[in-house]
Amino acid sequence: MIKRIIIAAFILTTMGVQAQSSYWQQHVDYKMDVQMNVNTFQYTGTQELVYTNNSPEVLNRVYYHLYYNAFQPGSEMDIRLQNIADPDGRMTQNLGTKENPNRVSRISQLSPNEIGYMHAVSLTQDGKKVQFDEAGTVLEVDLVTPINPGESTKLNMEFKGQVPVHIRRAGRNNKEGVALSMAQWYPKMAEYDFEGWHTSPYIAREFHGVWGDFDVKITLDKNYTIGGSGYLQNPNEIGHGYEDEGVKVKKQRGKTLTWHFKAPNVHDFTWAADAEYVHDKLVTPSGVTLHFFYKNKKDDTTFMANWKKLQPDTAKLLDFFNKNVGEYPYKQYSVIQGGDGGMEYAMCTLITGERRYGSLFGVTAHEMAHSWFQHVLATNESKHEWMDEGFTSFISELAEDKITGANKQNPFEGTYRGYFSLAASGKEMPQTTHADRFVDNFAYGRSAYSKGAVFLAQLGYVIGQDNLMKTLKKYYADFKFKHPTPNDIKRTAEKISGIHLDWYLTDWTQTTNTIDYGIKSLEDKNGKTAVTLERIGLMPMPIDIIVIYKDGTRESFYAPLRMMRGEKENPYPAISRTVLDDWPWAYPTYTFEINKPKSSIATIVIDPSELMADVDKRNNFIQQQ
Ligand SMILES: [Zn+2]
Repeated sequence: MIKRIIIAAFILTTMGVQAQSSYWQQHVDYKMDVQMNVNTFQYTGTQELVYTNNSPEVLNRVYYHLYYNAFQPGSEMDIRLQNIADPDGRMTQNLGTKENPNRVSRISQLSPNEIGYMHAVSLTQDGKKVQFDEAGTVLEVDLVTPINPGESTKLNMEFKGQVPVHIRRAGRNNKEGVALSMAQWYPKMAEYDFEGWHTSPYIAREFHGVWGDFDVKITLDKNYTIGGSGYLQNPNEIGHGYEDEGVKVKKQRGKTLTWHFKAPNVHDFTWAADAEYVHDKLVTPSGVTLHFFYKNKKDDTTFMANWKKLQPDTAKLLDFFNKNVGEYPYKQYSVIQGGDGGMEYAMCTLITGERRYGSLFGVTAHEMAHSWFQHVLATNESKHEWMDEGFTSFISELAEDKITGANKQNPFEGTYRGYFSLAASGKEMPQTTHADRFVDNFAYGRSAYSKGAVFLAQLGYVIGQDNLMKTLKKYYADFKFKHPTPNDIKRTAEKISGIHLDWYLTDWTQTTNTIDYGIKSLEDKNGKTAVTLERIGLMPMPIDIIVIYKDGTRESFYAPLRMMRGEKENPYPAISRTVLDDWPWAYPTYTFEINKPKSSIATIVIDPSELMADVDKRNNFIQQQ
């Protein structure tokens, strides 16, 4: 018996040690050479991958994403679209009337020359032929030679693709007439990391990729201008606004140009091309070159003015994110008219450009913020969508508030409203739900964007605003170029604040529990006032209370949650604060005393900042005549 116990203890100990250093992610370097036919929207290419196995296991298989196969009748994306209650309007067509709609999947209507596809034509591993099997949007590959831990292998593929009619994110001739929006367009190695393989089929949502260096050559009609990920290696040969100042670009013979890009340390490579792009550049004080690509709509002066106005504002955004999260690690960022809304990619974004200025700026702010919260902090968007969309929304809303000079008391007001309507809808699912598995698009959107942003805004209420901003910086510094998980942001906040936050992460992200506190009663007690608070919702929180007396003076009280094992700084330094005894969460009520009579109180209110997402504010204050 004793021996067994010792062995068990030994196994547990070694497992514990392994768990300490168990973070790893793969690495892949891409070299691609692609020929695009701008008339048929078909392209062919070669791809050489140097793939390094950083896992502790021997690898027998690898997987590639073939995203364009989603744009075919009968694909998983098509079928999902036909079965979801609230399909994305961009992906459906109404064949009925406005009153009697008959929404059909646009994918289901595609003819063979309109679909998207991405097929491997041949594949070798270190020169030896490899067996592969295409399963929808994923290519399953049996390696000839297993890859040992720490070893690399070379995978050479010939592939062919067709750019689909523009339905979602990528495609040909988007609704604003941009010829090529080339996102998720190449055979993309699936990530294998400390959490295992990530081979989700593409049904419309998010991505996860392997970090590495990209070396990409694209040959296409010489009248087309390309904007995208990566630094152009041959700018003075290409021109199109890329040439160095003062350089006269030689006129190229032949019908095509070969563009050569390099993008170091990214997990994605995206580009867009059009024959009518205007290409503007702006170098920021920090030395980053911002590129802007938009259609030359000479007759639409508002459109052209908006795209000019956007340029210095984008520089301000970059500066804001640099200062508040951490230094942007690349020397280039491009805002490119393309796609079907706004979507973030490595070193660039594709956004639709025919918008009023506020929207053009707002979407640029959001997508650019993703350069930090996705393209440097590469959270798995399918599993932890709220960290990706939520944190991006948080920092971009803050940036917009400051740059536009709005300086609202609560810049996240609209975001809180979005969360409250989700909580009241009966459709909420826990944030830990896989992005593809939400019943409704509505619940996914509100959970990822609104509730995800409230996670951070409300964290500022729990640990204090200074600690929140310090947490973001440390999180960036510690997890850049990795795949952070929910526990990583929680641990970072704990280390910065000294406050325990397990309860916050679990209740907010793994349940649909809501917060509802109330002021139950005020009672006279020998010239003092006994204030009784109640916890009505299941989710616990620390409580800030402000009392305004009839003589105009103010006083604040703070009831820390016992589980926090710590307290935040006074968020209202101008008002003197009394730190009360801890409130152990299981107690539904909590009473404390104010040293003044009840009759002297004009107003008593819980959390006037409204950063605590209390779903019913009607019971949060009492006013007395
Ligand atoms: Zn986003």
